[in-house]
Amino acid sequence: MKNKKNGLLDLEDNIRCDFEYLNFPPDNWVKPKLLENGSPVTDVTIVGGGMCGMAASFGLKREGIRNIRIFDRQPESFEGPWLTTARMKTLRSPKHLTGPNMGLPNLTFQAWYRAQWDTDSWEALGHIPREMWMEYLRWYRQVLEIPVENGVALERIEPEGDILKLFLLKNGQKEEHFTRKLVLATGRAAFGGTRLPAAFQDLPENLYAHTEDKIDFEALKGKKVFVIGGAASAVDSAAVALETGAAEVHLMVRAKEIPRLNKFKSTVYSGFFRGFKNLDEETRWRLLHHGFGCKIAAPRASMLRLKQYENFHIHLDSPIAKARADGDSLELSTGTQSYQGDFVILGTGYAINIADQPELAPFSKDVLLWRDRFTPPADIADEELGNFPFLGPGFELLEKTPGQASYLDRIHLFNAATTMTHSAVSSDIPGVNIGAERLIDTLAKKFFAEAAPEHLQDFYDYDEPELLGDEWN
Ligand SMILES: Cc1cc2nc3c(=O)[nH]c(=O)nc-3n(C[C@H](O)[C@H](O)[C@H](O)COP(=O)(O)OP(=O)(O)OC[C@H]3O[C@@H](n4cnc5c(N)ncnc54)[C@H](O)[C@@H]3O)c2cc1C
Repeated sequence: MKNKKNGLLDLEDNIRCDFEYLNFPPDNWVKPKLLENGSPVTDVTIVGGGMCGMAASFGLKREGIRNIRIFDRQPESFEGPWLTTARMKTLRSPKHLTGPNMGLPNLTFQAWYRAQWDTDSWEALGHIPREMWMEYLRWYRQVLEIPVENGVALERIEPEGDILKLFLLKNGQKEEHFTRKLVLATGRAAFGGTRLPAAFQDLPENLYAHTEDKIDFEALKGKKVFVIGGAASAVDSAAVALETGAAEVHLMVRAKEIPRLNKFKSTVYSGFFRGFKNLDEETRWRLLHHGFGCKIAAPRASMLRLKQYENFHIHLDSPIAKARADGDSLELSTGTQSYQGDFVILGTGYAINIADQPELAPFSKDVLLWRDRFTPPADIADEELGNFPFLGPGFELLEKTPGQASYLDRIHLFNAATTMTHSAVSSDIPGVNIGAERLIDTLAKKFFAEAAPEHLQDFYDYDEPELLGDEWN
C-alpha cells in the first residue's frame, strides 16, 4: 500500500475548483423569519450529524438554503454506528459504492481513497474497513465545512405558531431553539428504539445488552454468552465475544435455517430508489413484507469470523420463550429446552413504534401510520409494517385527520423509518444521494411557496436596469 504524497491536499484543491465551477455556495434566497422579539428563526434544523444529516446539510447549502443548524448528541467523530456499536471488520457494501457524494465525483469514497493510495492498493482493497469508512465521513465533514454541533441532543419538540420549538440538551444544559423545519436524520433506532422481545423483559439489566448498546466484552472473558438472532449485528457481536475470550458463545436462532440471502441487495438501483414511493400501497407492502420475512443474511465475512472457534455453537429453531435470572447467571428456555449461562446479547433489531420514540411520542395519536392508510390482505398481514409512518413526498409526517395537527408537515424524517414509504433512500449508503435530493427539493419548494406573496412583491419591485439608456442614440 503506497501512500501518495499530498494526494488528499490535491483532491481538496480539485473540490474547491469544482465549487468554483458550480458557483457554490449560492447566496441564501429563503425569506428570513423572526420571532416576535426580533431574534431570527433557523430555517432548517437537522438532528443527526451522520451520513444522512451531512448529505442533507451539504445539499441544502448547495441550493442556497443556508440558515441551517445541525446537531448531534455524540462527540465529534463518533456520529453513527461506525466507531461505537458496529462490530464488523468491513462494510457489507462493495468498495465501489459512491458515498454521499451528491453527484460530485471528487467527493466519492473512491476519490478519497485513491487520492491517498496507489492503484494496486485500490485493486487489492476487498471491502471497506469500518474505521476507514468513518475516516472518510470525517474528511467529508471537514472538506465541506459541515457545521455539526456535537454534544447537543434533541429531547422534545413543541409546535408554536407556524414554527417549532425544540428543547435541546447541550453539554448537560437545557436550551430552547426555534426552527421552521426539522429534519430528523437520527439513524436506525429512530422510530421506537431497539426491540426487546417480551421473553427478556423481566431479565435484570446486568444480565443482558442489546447489540445497539456499548458492550463491555472484556467483562465477558471466560463467560458463557448467548447471542439472540441470526443477522449481521448478532453474528458480529458473537465474533467479538469469541475474539475477546468468552468461554462459549451460543447463537440462538429462531429460524429453522440460517438465512442465506439478502433480498434487498437486488433493490440497489436507481429505478427502485426513485420509483418505489410511487408504487401503490399494496405493492410496496408486498415488497417489504417479503424482504423482511426472508430475513437478511449476515455477510459471509462475518460468518467466517466464527468458523475457527470450537467454543461457538449455533442453535437453530430455538426461539426463546422465557429468560430468567438465576442468581448471577441466567436461564433461557425455548419451552422444550433450557440453557444456563452468564450473559445474553440481543441482536433483535429495531422496534417500529412511535409511542416509544421520546421526541415523537407526544404526537403519536396524530401521525398517519401505514395501518391507518392501508389494510393488507390476510396473506400479507404484518403488524410491524403497519406501525411505520406513512410519509409525504419529502419525508414529512402527515396528519391522521386532516386539519388536526398541521404542524406535522414541518417535521421531516430522514432516517430508517422512511423505508416503507420511500425505500432505503435515507438509511443505507447507496440510496442516500437520491434521498437527500428528494428532501431538498421538497424543502426548497415549501420555502418558496410559503413566501409566495413576498416573492411576488420582489418581482414587482425589481428595478435593476439591463440597459442604462446610453446604449443607443
Ligand atoms: C452495524 C451497521 C453496519 C452497517 N453497514 C452498512 C453497509 O455496509 N452498507 C450500507 O449501505 N449501510 C450500512 N448500514 C446502514 C447505514 O449505512 C448506517 O446505519 C448509517 O450510519 C446511516 O446513516 P444515518 O446518517 O442515517 O444514521 P447514523 O449514522 O446512525 O447517524 C444518526 C445520528 O443521529 C444522532 N442522533 C440520534 N438521535 C439524536 C437526538 N435525539 N439528538 C441528537 N442527535 C441524535 C446520533 O448520535 C447519530 O450520530 C449499517 C448500519 C449499521 C448499524
